[in-house]
Order: sequence, then C-alpha cells, then structure tokens
Amino acid sequence: MSFVRTILGDIPSDELGVCYAHEHIIIDNNVATMRFPDFYLPSVENGIEELARFHKDGGRAMVDSMPCDSGRNALKLAEISKATNVHILCPTGVHLGKYYDDGHWSHHYSVDRLSELFIADIQEGIDRFDYSGPCVERISNRAGLIKIASGGVEITERNRRIFEAAAIAHVDTGAPILTHTEEGKGAMEQVALLSSHGVDLRKVVLSHTDRQPDIEYHRDILQTGVRVEYDSAFRWKTETNPTLDLVMELISDFPDQIMLGMDAARPSYWKSYGGAPGLSYLLNEFSQMMRARGLSEQQWQRIFVSTPADAYTFNND
Ligand SMILES: [Zn+2]
Repeated sequence: MSFVRTILGDIPSDELGVCYAHEHIIIDNNVATMRFPDFYLPSVENGIEELARFHKDGGRAMVDSMPCDSGRNALKLAEISKATNVHILCPTGVHLGKYYDDGHWSHHYSVDRLSELFIADIQEGIDRFDYSGPCVERISNRAGLIKIASGGVEITERNRRIFEAAAIAHVDTGAPILTHTEEGKGAMEQVALLSSHGVDLRKVVLSHTDRQPDIEYHRDILQTGVRVEYDSAFRWKTETNPTLDLVMELISDFPDQIMLGMDAARPSYWKSYGGAPGLSYLLNEFSQMMRARGLSEQQWQRIFVSTPADAYTFNND
C-alpha cells in the first residue's frame, strides 16, 4: 500500500485530500521564539479554531514544518488533528543554525548520529522531549517527513552534514524530504547535494523558491524532477502577484510538481490569533485568483491533492 505517515498514523495516500504543503501549526517556546518572538504559535485552542475553519473550507491536510528541538510539539499536533479531522504530517530533521543555541548538538553531531536520530523519529516514534536533553522517551506518534534547511547559495559544513544525514534517513526509510531555501536561493545547490547522495528527487519538496520569481530559475529547478512549494501568495505588496504568475506560467509544463502552502509562522497571519488573512486564504481568495486566470479544475486538484499525495508518500519500491 502506498501511504503517507500522519501524526495519528499511516493512511493510504489517496485519502490525504486537499493539502497545504508547508505550514506552522504549533511553534512552542524555544531558542527560535526567544530570538524571533514573532514566531510564537503555542496555542492548541487557536490551532483547533483555525484548522476547523480550514476543514470547513475544504482543507483536509497540512504539513507542519518545525523539525527537532526548534519548537516542534508532536503531542499538540496530534491533539489538533484529532479535534479537527485535519491530517497533519510532523517532520523530523533540523532547521538553520540560527534557531538553536551555539552549543546545540545539531552543530557538532556526526552524519551517522544525525541520521540515527531522524530514522528513530520516523520508525519508532518522536521523542517526548523533542531531543532537547539527554533523556529520550519515544511516544507512539511518528514523523512523516524530514525537514532540512540551507542558508543561501553556499551550503555550510553544518548544513551539508544535515543534508547527508537526511539523505541516509530517506534512503533507509523512504521518508520524503522538505527543504527550506533562504529567500528562495540555493535551490540548485540543494538538489545537486541530495541527488549526489542517492535521494529520489520526486520525493524532495523545495520551499519558498517563489521568493525569487525568475521564471528561468524555476524552469531549471523543475527540470530536475523535484517538487516546489510556493508560499508567498499572500505576502506580495506589489501590484502584480509573482506567485500567481509563476503558477500560471509553469503549471502546464510541470503539472505534477507545483504545490502551495501558507508558511504562516506568525500569529499575525492567523484569524484565530486576531490576524489576517487566515489559513483558508489559499482555498478561498487565491483559488479564485488562479481560476480567474484560467486554472482548470484538474490543475487545481493537482496542486492541492495529487501532487502533495505523491510527494509525501513514502518511497517503498
Ligand atoms: Zn516554514
């Protein structure tokens, strides 16, 4: 059976439904929120309110993007998923160095140690303490993807180790990989590195590349076979919407490689925290904008349903 690993268990891939490919549902207190207080999203109650609205508007699944010890909380995600019937995928992996203190294990663990931690999160269960201390106690909820990040065109020694560990964990478990590109840059470098370590590029999702809305850059990326997740749709303050332009220009040539997300990692973007535009924006306003530009029903289904299902299905061929 082809399956997606949600926080509440494995489900057949064709049951995932309408999916946002890169979200932040919970960001708990940690170094990241101390340095960047804007990112604090701790509330299960607000999570339930927002995701219930998303479900009412037709949404069925979200991929959370906070990896180990950066504010991830698997138990809170499980609670929100249970209360709303929205499938939630929870990642393992490691974020950029700036989200951790200087002595953090992610800065000095070997590739083998890192990959062991990722694999255990995927196969055995996520650590109740989120790999924040010496004791590890695994809960039954498991990670469904590996989230990694690079900070621009150049991939540092630390991040290179993390990419290599993610590649090993991917080959071993079949788990898909979601990457953060800084301001959309460095996509081709990430692809080259993952591919050189044997990663199946159909199982790689690059985030935020629409922050560099250069059409040739995007054609080069998509020609490698990776998937992309665009999440600036609601952020542009310009007269035109470059994310909308990219989707409309690329969807015919690369119908099975483009996904959307909000990446709404701030309470000020959430209705339940009193902000705007709210997580239903892509299903409502932005879907209307795409349809007005000629997006067909079949193309809409690919962006929100079949491409996320394919990308986040475990590779167990
Ligand atoms: Zn994100």
